[in-house]
Amino acid sequence: MGRYTGSVCKLCRRTGEKLILKGSRCVVKCTLDRRSKPPGQQSGQRRRRVSDRGLQLIEKQKVRYSYGMLERQFRRFFARAAKQQGITGDNLIVLLERRLDNVVYRLGFAESRAQARQLVQHGHIMLNGRKNNIPSSLVKEGDTISWKEGSIKTEYYKQLVANIQSKSVVSWLSLDRQTLAGQALSLPTPGDIDAKFDGKTIVEYYSR
Ligand code: SF4
Repeated sequence: MGRYTGSVCKLCRRTGEKLILKGSRCVVKCTLDRRSKPPGQQSGQRRRRVSDRGLQLIEKQKVRYSYGMLERQFRRFFARAAKQQGITGDNLIVLLERRLDNVVYRLGFAESRAQARQLVQHGHIMLNGRKNNIPSSLVKEGDTISWKEGSIKTEYYKQLVANIQSKSVVSWLSLDRQTLAGQALSLPTPGDIDAKFDGKTIVEYYSR
């Protein structure tokens, strides 16, 4: 599955929001503080008026960029969410939260979802005791997420054990800070998600 390889700060500039795509580096220094205009727009130019359709697009892109997905894959998630019972926008956010790369990020194993995705793709992570290198795998209630035996010898892992002790974990996950083994205590709910995305607007975008 392909991935976006350009500047992630450009993605924030396109949406006009700090999407925190580079983890703690975003807190230290953020490009958006210096260059808030969308890419391609000169600093002296006034920001163009955005149509309703444009606003829907921005809302959709905010979510897609945040989870580091290409359009085709994001659409597949949306189609799956639309087939489920309940509110499509909420279903979508819950499905995205259940992605293995996101769970690795939420457990604090990585600074950003992009880094979490790399950990998964490079085969460091096990799902229910078996190596899983597919970032889009969906985590279910009761699933365990742990590190491959060979990976716990890496410098990255040793640093992580030292740094993770003071980090908190979202309520639907648990983490054993000695072994760095996580578990999904339940499925996430839309209320568990810190970023406030407007699922309804995304549904409107795809309904046209
Ligand atoms: Fe976005 Fe972080 Fe870049 Fe700021 S530093 S524009 S929050 S990715």
